[in-house]
Amino acid sequence: MSNTYFDSENNHKSFEMPGARPHYNPDRPGQVEHIFLDLVLNIPKQSFRGTCSIRINPVRSGIDKLTLDAVNLNIESVKVGETEQNFDSDGEVLQIQLHEPTEAYQPITIAINYSVEKPQRGLYFVGPDKNYPDKPTQVWTQGEDEDSRFWFPCFDYPGQLATSEIRVQVPRQFFAISNGELISTKNEGDDKIYHWSQTQVHPTYLMTLAVGDFAEIKDEWHGKPVNYYVERRREADAKRSMGKTPQMIEFFSEAFGYPYPFPKYAQVCVDDFIFGGMENTSTTLLTDRCLLDERATLDNRGTESLVAHELAHQWFGDLVVIKHWSHAWLKEGMASYSEVLWTDKEYGKEDAAYYMLNEARSYLTEDSSRYRRPMVTHVYREAIELYDRHLYEKGACVYHMIRAELGDELFYKAIHTFVRDNAHKTVETIDLLRAIEKATGRNLMFLFDQYVYRGGHPDYKVAYSWDGDSKLAKVTVTQTQVKDSKNDNGNSKDVFDLKIPIGFGYKPEKEADDESSARSTPNLKTFTVRVYEREQSFYFPLEEKPAFISFDVGNKYLKTVALEYGVAELKAQLQFDPDPVSRIYAAHALAKKGGLEAVKTLSEVLNKEPFWGVRVEVAGQLVEIKLDQAFEGLVSGLRDKDARVRRAVVGALGKIKTHETFKALRSILEKGDASYYVEAAAAIAMGGTVAANPDEKPSEEQVVKELKLVLKERQGWNEIVRSGAIAGLAQMKTSEDALNLILKYTAAGTPQALRLTAIRSLGTISTGQTKVNLERILQRLAELSKETFFLTQVSVVAGLGQMETRKAIRILRSLADQTPDGRVRRMADEAVQRVQKNAGSDAAVKQLREELDQVKKENQDLKSRMENLEAKAKKD
Ligand SMILES: [Zn+2]
Repeated sequence: MSNTYFDSENNHKSFEMPGARPHYNPDRPGQVEHIFLDLVLNIPKQSFRGTCSIRINPVRSGIDKLTLDAVNLNIESVKVGETEQNFDSDGEVLQIQLHEPTEAYQPITIAINYSVEKPQRGLYFVGPDKNYPDKPTQVWTQGEDEDSRFWFPCFDYPGQLATSEIRVQVPRQFFAISNGELISTKNEGDDKIYHWSQTQVHPTYLMTLAVGDFAEIKDEWHGKPVNYYVERRREADAKRSMGKTPQMIEFFSEAFGYPYPFPKYAQVCVDDFIFGGMENTSTTLLTDRCLLDERATLDNRGTESLVAHELAHQWFGDLVVIKHWSHAWLKEGMASYSEVLWTDKEYGKEDAAYYMLNEARSYLTEDSSRYRRPMVTHVYREAIELYDRHLYEKGACVYHMIRAELGDELFYKAIHTFVRDNAHKTVETIDLLRAIEKATGRNLMFLFDQYVYRGGHPDYKVAYSWDGDSKLAKVTVTQTQVKDSKNDNGNSKDVFDLKIPIGFGYKPEKEADDESSARSTPNLKTFTVRVYEREQSFYFPLEEKPAFISFDVGNKYLKTVALEYGVAELKAQLQFDPDPVSRIYAAHALAKKGGLEAVKTLSEVLNKEPFWGVRVEVAGQLVEIKLDQAFEGLVSGLRDKDARVRRAVVGALGKIKTHETFKALRSILEKGDASYYVEAAAAIAMGGTVAANPDEKPSEEQVVKELKLVLKERQGWNEIVRSGAIAGLAQMKTSEDALNLILKYTAAGTPQALRLTAIRSLGTISTGQTKVNLERILQRLAELSKETFFLTQVSVVAGLGQMETRKAIRILRSLADQTPDGRVRRMADEAVQRVQKNAGSDAAVKQLREELDQVKKENQDLKSRMENLEAKAKKD
């Protein structure tokens, strides 16, 4: 599953919310062998009825009671053979009193007749209404994690694997798709019956059904159908967005050492989907928001990554199934890591390294601002809470570290063994360790102990000095996450014990003209040292003084680093280190040192560095130096050929809140950029230019006018640009005009993507508004909180969570109580804590903050002038 809707800006530190408790799989009365759903949909009534037949092979004799999960299903009868069974259904579970107790290994088939009206979860009816008359009519399901019980009675946990069959009757104009193969179709009056059969075992949460008037785009891999289903008229977008699927199937079949295991692979893009994607066995559902138009393909890689992610799950998740949610990192970590593997194959090593760095960063942000938890834990309120940045991105980092430990050859051998030995079975974390040991002889328990079974990661501070007399390089590594320095080194539970390669780099003999070729033959002398104490110093005898130091060569370990090297070393590393991630670390360290020298170097790198990812980072760091000279350096980046760099430059410019910036941004918006994202970033940044600096800033009216124009004219793909304008307006916190515009776009009928941004932005803009306007915002959010659609609720919570008034809490609490969605509940609870904290910072503090900003700005002016004078003096 791809879960892209978690808000990671939170401040409390405990993962476990009040009410969290241990969760275990239930006792198993027997093995479920087969599930057969025979359903008739009534789409106008948003209801369905039918039979769920479950064949179960009892594990022992004498069982006379079965308990199935069945939420809000109207159970009409339960039969075994022709015999009616007594049952009791309380809206949560279905208890069946067996007429005849089981006999061990004598399978029985239980046939449950039931109906459902307007299901709350599990199966979703989507269709046009008066506000959105063009919305397509669709039905789709979402089982993960424990929602299949909302659409059929089942033993709803991933530890039970069974074959499945879905026969479904729908109006003739619709197509119905499900897991496995289509074994028959039949016309029935005005209806049509589709009969799908999945002959490989899988868990209930991966059973799916999608119904709609879809266009079908056919492709194939080694004779197996690879089809894309989208709303009609989006055929070209479908091909553009999913067209690499056959190559990906080939690639993952190879990487995982197991040919794609199912009879077909279908991807269905559905409307209003509540996740990014869901890897139902052989039938992935994707949000239609991932469909790209031509212009969006320029700099959107998200869709390609999403397609790779869900496809990789067909092995990690669907073929090899987790036994319990607590081990979900095994599949989500690998699906996320597969995005990196695919990036490597498709775009090369540097792109993959940068992708990996950003995966690590998502986790690091969650860890520092939200909570820290072990990756494997069975203590939670709802399993869906586990689907966070620890599960996905940290999981990916762990797979990457396993690969670093084993080397490529043994890593893939281990992965092949794991997949082959556990195909069509369930696994826990220990099974991965065992497969690694079986395939390679290596025991990686030490790594799992440090990164999987406990929370956290090492925060390294690395200092370097050179002793020219004895030709010794001294490197001091401090693990700053270890709080107590007096504690016995090595004994603290926070210390990490890892073997880390440290490289000493030399400039190429001749300065090659082409820097990238100089980097491809790096001159690195590498030593591997065991870093296992809070602070350690290492001495390395070297023939010559190195130009730079590369800590953790290859950047394999999940960590943070603070580099304490001299400017010369950082400059050399930024230029010559073959690893883009190391160059990025050097850029960060250099910016931290500040000064004109750093601005000069980073400006040069922004123009010369061949890899776009480093240029993106350099743009972000240039602006952090807080010297006026950074502006010029940045502006040159507006001409970068890579849209992702231009976007980063624009974002950075937004932090320099001057009239000059305003003019640069206005020029981008007026001329337009090839990329939607660059235009959106310009609109957002422009809103920010009104803040601070009364003498230099553009007028509020000017900015509102520009952004209003964007809102009027820049409709387009996923409303990216216009959403940028709304987010820009939200920066103008004291403007009533801006607020009025935002409010207007929260009206029903506004294109969904734009409306969601507007709702969220109400919170952003709220903090500078008058009391009267604050009440208007609260009232609007309270109205919106009554809407039941998941994404609306997420936006309402995100908006409220940014507010600084306790009045937001009441709305959040009532939303948390009423929402059927565990993710919304969790977000709302966390938002309450955030608002409580925000509300504490009263007006006086805000006043101080503003004054401080003003002082900082004045200081920056002085510093910039001084640096100029110094530079001049040196020249003289
Ligand atoms: Zn996933």
